[in-house]
Amino acid sequence: MDADLVIGVPDSATAAAIGYAQEAGIPYSEGLMKNRYIGRTFIQPDDRLRQAGVALKFNPLPQVLVGKRVVVVDDSIVRGNTSAPTVELLRRAGAGEVHLRISSPPIRHPCFMGVDMATYDELIAHRLSVQEIEREIGADTLGYLSLEGMIEALRRPLGRFCTACFSGEYPFEQKAGGFLPRELQRCGTVERQQVR
Ligand code: SF4
Repeated sequence: MDADLVIGVPDSATAAAIGYAQEAGIPYSEGLMKNRYIGRTFIQPDDRLRQAGVALKFNPLPQVLVGKRVVVVDDSIVRGNTSAPTVELLRRAGAGEVHLRISSPPIRHPCFMGVDMATYDELIAHRLSVQEIEREIGADTLGYLSLEGMIEALRRPLGRFCTACFSGEYPFEQKAGGFLPRELQRCGTVERQQVR
């Protein structure tokens, strides 16, 4: 795509942003500085506080951003409620265009294996299409890494990793009262070995 600059949302997307910049042939720069004394922002109770939280957490660098067509790389979108404030922060700092690229596939399914992520209703990619998310967060364009692209980047065969939050293919069967590994589903002792 045509852009002047690639930046990452620090720190989790920095490596992906550098890789994107190299592949796309677009200069990479730091455009957001992270305030290390601010905690996670998505737990803030409303949009106004969340916007304030993002503004406290990241300092945009206007000298880098003004008038630029910026590709900003983030590692994922879960609920989507910090993406819009981040896009807005970059625009207020003078970015001419903000193109958001996500270094994971859309997260459309919850994690039942222990990552405290979100419920189906809370996951923005479960509720909305990519185009609708793009409109909701106010980015000029939005793009995700595909599941195939992610597996290719990992250089391991599909099946070596859990991909459930992206694909909906859980390594466990859901049963009333708990979850069962697929291997136990296939054997004859399912009821006795049901996970609680
Ligand atoms: S890949 Fe699997 S274990 Fe990891 S967060 Fe997604 S659903 Fe949970």
